[in-house]
Amino acid sequence: MSQSVMEVQVHESMFDAVLARLNAAAKLMNLSDEVLQVLRNPQKEVKVSLPITMDSGKIQIFEGYRTVHSTHLGPSKGGIRFAMDVNSDEVRALAAWMSFKCAVANLPYGGAKGGIKCDPRNMSVGELERLSRAYAKAMKEVIGVNKDIPAPDMGTSGREMAWMLDEYNKVMGEDIPGVITGKPIAIGGSLGRDAATGRGVMVNTLAALKRLNLNPKNVTAIVQGFGNVGSHAARLLSEQGVKIVGIGDHTASFYNEKGIDIKAALDFAAKNNKVLKGFTGATEIKASELLVSACDVLVPAALQNVITEENASKIQAKLIVEGANGPTTPQADPILNEKGIICVPDILANSGGVTVSYFEWVQNKAGYYWTEDEVNQKHDLKMEIAFEAIWNNASKYKCSMRLAAYITALQRIEQAVKFKGFY
Ligand code: NAD
Repeated sequence: MSQSVMEVQVHESMFDAVLARLNAAAKLMNLSDEVLQVLRNPQKEVKVSLPITMDSGKIQIFEGYRTVHSTHLGPSKGGIRFAMDVNSDEVRALAAWMSFKCAVANLPYGGAKGGIKCDPRNMSVGELERLSRAYAKAMKEVIGVNKDIPAPDMGTSGREMAWMLDEYNKVMGEDIPGVITGKPIAIGGSLGRDAATGRGVMVNTLAALKRLNLNPKNVTAIVQGFGNVGSHAARLLSEQGVKIVGIGDHTASFYNEKGIDIKAALDFAAKNNKVLKGFTGATEIKASELLVSACDVLVPAALQNVITEENASKIQAKLIVEGANGPTTPQADPILNEKGIICVPDILANSGGVTVSYFEWVQNKAGYYWTEDEVNQKHDLKMEIAFEAIWNNASKYKCSMRLAAYITALQRIEQAVKFKGFY
């Protein structure tokens, strides 16, 4: 596929980096200037101050954020992260990303994101519960089952979602499970949600291999990150016959050209505080070597900004499938494009998670729950359709899959904005 080279700029603001990709796609597809202006400006930004009684008895004030970027395709959807570097620029960027991700997966959702500036690893369970409940109460006018639907993100999990849902229900005086997704199964979570993002990575990888005329059974892969996304992606890809030759997390990286027994790695991590350090099923290599070692498919599934202008030219994979959010910097994009490496972008490759969150919301609204097989089947079909739409737009606009994903999202959002109109 021929790929256009994107303009390279250095972006200090994360939202500016989103705007640069938005502008590039808008230019290529001739997006109307009115719609571009609408999408360059988030619809709503709320900042709250949350005074929490710490276990010491002292009061500490925490900053909480929620940004709704767009609601043109439906209620806004996006996670809540607990991290020290949460700030309004990052939340705004992640909210915009969610608008495009939901549109790429063709979900009836806009995009939002929230967060609390805090260090969850240094807080007690009681402090985290009080903080989660205070956030849900403070944001009661922002969130809503048909308005804005949060989910877990970095530093949060089903546990925090359960506290937030319980607080919201108490404040509203009724049981509204669909207001938050990513919940524990016992209180309305969906089967299949846990593995969904890794599953989406697997389905996207298979779809891309098919287009590249490669048989999964003759293909090798390296997966960076062995958490929720990476471990499920590695397991599901190996179940499809892909030989996983490299794995790694923040504690250690490994390579074995004969293939790594992923079940053994999963068992090892389960008994070893969820980390890979000490695994003996492969040779330990330097972290910096993992992404540039020999393989056909590279799955960055750990953190952002790992494929950069420094290492992009050394990448040996033919195909990159972005499990993490933002693993490739805008500066690395043109280098990958020039090398002819196909990159299935994050807003498509990791949209399996929000897709099954959508299924959770549908099940909550219907009060009727599906089997795991039903969830997986519906998920796989939605991902395959999304992949095809983006692949076809990449051919049509002669651009990278990343730009094609933005174009596909913008086409869908533009239609909705135009039908809904302006004041
Ligand atoms: P996680 O916390 O479960 O796992 C993160 C993994 O990355 C861990 O194995 C950790 O050891 C590893 N890691 C951290 N720092 C590293 C480093 N410097 N080098 C190598 N490995 C490192 O997180 P997750 O839920 O798997 O999320 C991973 C990425 O996927 C993030 O970018 C996240 O935003 C994105 N994502 C997650 C979901 C989801 O449903 N969980 C959905 C969409 C996108």
